[in-house]
Amino acid sequence: MLKNLVQNDKVAQKGSAIASVAVEYYQVPLAEVLSDAKHGDHTHFELILCRIRCHDGSEGVGYTYTGGKGGRAIFSLLEHELKPLLMGEDASCILDLWQKMQWHLHYVGRGGLVSFAISAVDIALWDIRCKQLNQPLWKVAGGHGNTTRCYAGGIDLNFSVDKLQSNVAGYLSRGFNAVKIKCGKPHYKEDVERVRAVRDVIGEATTFMVDANYSMTVEQAIRFGRAIEDQDISWFEEPTIPDDYKGFARIAESINIPLAMGENLHTIHEFGYAIEQAKLGFLQPDASNIGGITGWLQVANMALAANLPVCSHGMHELHVSLMASQPHAGFLEVHSFPIDQYTTHPIQLQGGLAVAPDIAGTGVVFDDNLLRPHQVKLI
Ligand SMILES: [Mg+2]
Repeated sequence: MLKNLVQNDKVAQKGSAIASVAVEYYQVPLAEVLSDAKHGDHTHFELILCRIRCHDGSEGVGYTYTGGKGGRAIFSLLEHELKPLLMGEDASCILDLWQKMQWHLHYVGRGGLVSFAISAVDIALWDIRCKQLNQPLWKVAGGHGNTTRCYAGGIDLNFSVDKLQSNVAGYLSRGFNAVKIKCGKPHYKEDVERVRAVRDVIGEATTFMVDANYSMTVEQAIRFGRAIEDQDISWFEEPTIPDDYKGFARIAESINIPLAMGENLHTIHEFGYAIEQAKLGFLQPDASNIGGITGWLQVANMALAANLPVCSHGMHELHVSLMASQPHAGFLEVHSFPIDQYTTHPIQLQGGLAVAPDIAGTGVVFDDNLLRPHQVKLI
């Protein structure tokens, strides 16, 4: 303890020592109920913000989100476990802090909720780093460019075929040239019908993906995959449970559609196993649950080494900068949780490409006036 105090005191003199960590919890309602095959109905999403301030006055904001459940536990991990660990530490030593946080809670939470909490901290530290460099995240993270291909990711399994068609038509009118729909209806023929109905609306030129949210057995996924092979599907996302890497491989070997996953892989080691065993065509790390920007970039490097495109899941207001930064980026998901609508830089499309903000920091600046009504005080 004494040794820690002495070390922290040395850092404090440098000015980049962490002086405060503030954690906030929000429940943000969705405009309408959105459903997928395994999570059921979404009525709101949770946001957990982590505001870090250093002794020199520099500040960063990080965050994570959920589909409506588990956010209080993430808040607690941040407030009661990570905050005491971080106080007085040097905010500029991001990878070292990332490892310290991992090992601090490793025994009780290898991956899972702990990865969400670490993500919120890590994103705040990157916000500070980018601001200190006076550079936007897309430059600091890799610098390949400031635009990226993207698609509209629908959460639409509860929509009738008519509504599904008008919904994807809405995506096209907003400037998207790639769309994804949910599948996983009780009978696969209904899914096939929905895929064909969407292709009829979007035409041949639009990129089209499907996402089963791991609702199918391997055999069901193969049957469905074969039935939609003629629809030019760019990827089949999470056909079966994310733990069954070899099941993914069996599906990949049996159909002519590439597979994608990543939103349910919460450690870089899980991504390692998936790359090795699952015969994926696309990796989809989510910076909100893979350990923030540090974790996302590690997976991006693993994708590069494996000759796979890196994609993203959720929080498009942040991922737009990470995806733009990478030379081997696939498609940014513009997710149906509109977190960006509560920031000062909602997602912008130009010629079908998403444009990363050109401001110092992560590019995600929350509008407190918009968010505050949704804050729930937990302590
Ligand atoms: Mg998905």
